[in-house]
Amino acid sequence: TPVNQVAAIKAPTLPDAQTVTSVTHWTDRLFSFRVTRPASLRFRSGEFVMIGLMGDPHPETGKQKPLLRAYSIASPAWDDELEFYSIKVQDGPLTSKLQHIQVGDEIILRPKPVGTLVHDALLPGKRLWFFSTGTGFAPFASLLREPDTYEKYDEVIITHTCRDVAELAYGAKLIEDLKADELMQELIGPENLAKIRYYPTTTREQSPKMGRITTLLEDGTVFADLGVPEITADTDRAMVCGSLAFNKDIQALLEGYGLKEGANSEPGHYVIEKAFVGDGV
Ligand code: FAD
Repeated sequence: TPVNQVAAIKAPTLPDAQTVTSVTHWTDRLFSFRVTRPASLRFRSGEFVMIGLMGDPHPETGKQKPLLRAYSIASPAWDDELEFYSIKVQDGPLTSKLQHIQVGDEIILRPKPVGTLVHDALLPGKRLWFFSTGTGFAPFASLLREPDTYEKYDEVIITHTCRDVAELAYGAKLIEDLKADELMQELIGPENLAKIRYYPTTTREQSPKMGRITTLLEDGTVFADLGVPEITADTDRAMVCGSLAFNKDIQALLEGYGLKEGANSEPGHYVIEKAFVGDGV
């Protein structure tokens, strides 16, 4: 395809080129891929980087500029490769092309990781909640594979809400594999992996648990289902990653439970990051 040709021709001139090592398409709107990791790249599980491709040549000058977007690193800090979990936006400048990448192609990766969904931004606690919608699962795909997560908490609850069941597949398989994988058993320990509580919900398609997580928190369903007490600042910590509307709703609930927002510079009870900018597709 033209995209691949562009990458192949341009890549050697890009200082930040990384090679695609695998691609998995989950639905017509979602895919994940892995790339080589720059030897010098250090990051904290949960952070994001800018990645992209060369843009189309300028109609007059023929010049190409990098087309970059923020992406959570979905793989843990110890992994040899980097994994990303991506939306496919039909007319999206980047993802209309990125969705066609294949093994051996190159992408641009700016090695400057940043972000607030990191353990350093939270005060010590007993129970850690990850609240996600859509591709907001990505930073938690990293943190769920991070040994620190289990060293710091007795229980790790991950909620993931999507419209349809198929959109839950990446997360569901990751958690299933995590519990079955020998390397993970060795690295994280079976007793630690047993701390994971997975709570997927759908808002449109019929599934075992339907509804917005905010509603299920408000009416107490989540706590009853999981057999845990209501969230309090004494015991619970949270990381939130979804649409702007989702983040605001969860934030209001967390504040209502008495939790205060944290940051890298001043750790608190919860941290929030946008999964994307805009209303969503
Ligand atoms: P854009 O012009 O960037 O977006 C077009 C429209 O598509 C947006 O206005 C929005 O309405 C919608 N949209 C964009 N991204 C999403 C999404 N992820 N889910 C639902 N609707 C969306 N995207 C990922 O796929 N995976 C990630 O891990 C990821 N991490 C991000 C982390 C941060 C901190 C931020 C700010 C954004 C992140 N994004 C992520 C969004 C990403 O930066 C791009 O917006 C996305 O790749 C689409 O790029 P685009 O150029 O095709 O379309």
